[in-house]
Amino acid sequence: MIPSSRQTAGGDLFSLTETAAKRAKLSGNISYCSQVHSGTVVQVLSSGGDAGKCDGLLTDSPEALLSIRVADCVPVFIHCPEKRAIGLIHAGWRGTAAEISQEAVRKMETFFGLHAEMLEVALGPSIKPCCFEVGAEVADTFSKECLTLSTEGRYFLDLPQQNRIQLEGAGVQQERIADSPDCTCCSPQMFHSYRRHGEKSGRMICLLKLA
Ligand SMILES: [Zn+2]
Repeated sequence: MIPSSRQTAGGDLFSLTETAAKRAKLSGNISYCSQVHSGTVVQVLSSGGDAGKCDGLLTDSPEALLSIRVADCVPVFIHCPEKRAIGLIHAGWRGTAAEISQEAVRKMETFFGLHAEMLEVALGPSIKPCCFEVGAEVADTFSKECLTLSTEGRYFLDLPQQNRIQLEGAGVQQERIADSPDCTCCSPQMFHSYRRHGEKSGRMICLLKLA
């Protein structure tokens, strides 16, 4: 996960991702997508390129370099060592409400002939319940166990926990899911944060490739 000081909208998305890949010393054909806070996950080919409007990329090609951008949303890194397949998911609250993590596991099972128990998953740094206040209408779409209600009646959402519930519900083993302890919103030295800086926030570029 590499910080980019600029927003990654529009035409320079590819070049910013390419720069991040160079900094991370990762080569490959870059796949990226127009993130639309959906539950849509697609398989990408070895040639890379624009995967269109979706929020999750899957591949079993060693040539493909998957990329997404986040600023508070949960980046979900998925790997199947046995079948040599990977998935990279952008899970904001809307995508999480659309069960994108569960969808990613199901599609990896279908496309790559694997089972959820074979998967290893890492949930990258994201906004945590310390900072992620949501309105009652958003809170209504999530599990009670992922919500904290403050004494003033404000709701705080645990977005990575909701994704963990989906992954485990889809059959991923609990001990094979790692979760970053870092909150992007209260770690300004390390991460960009949409909640902290608003629309003009930089983005974190996440990259994933088969070794
Ligand atoms: Zn925080």
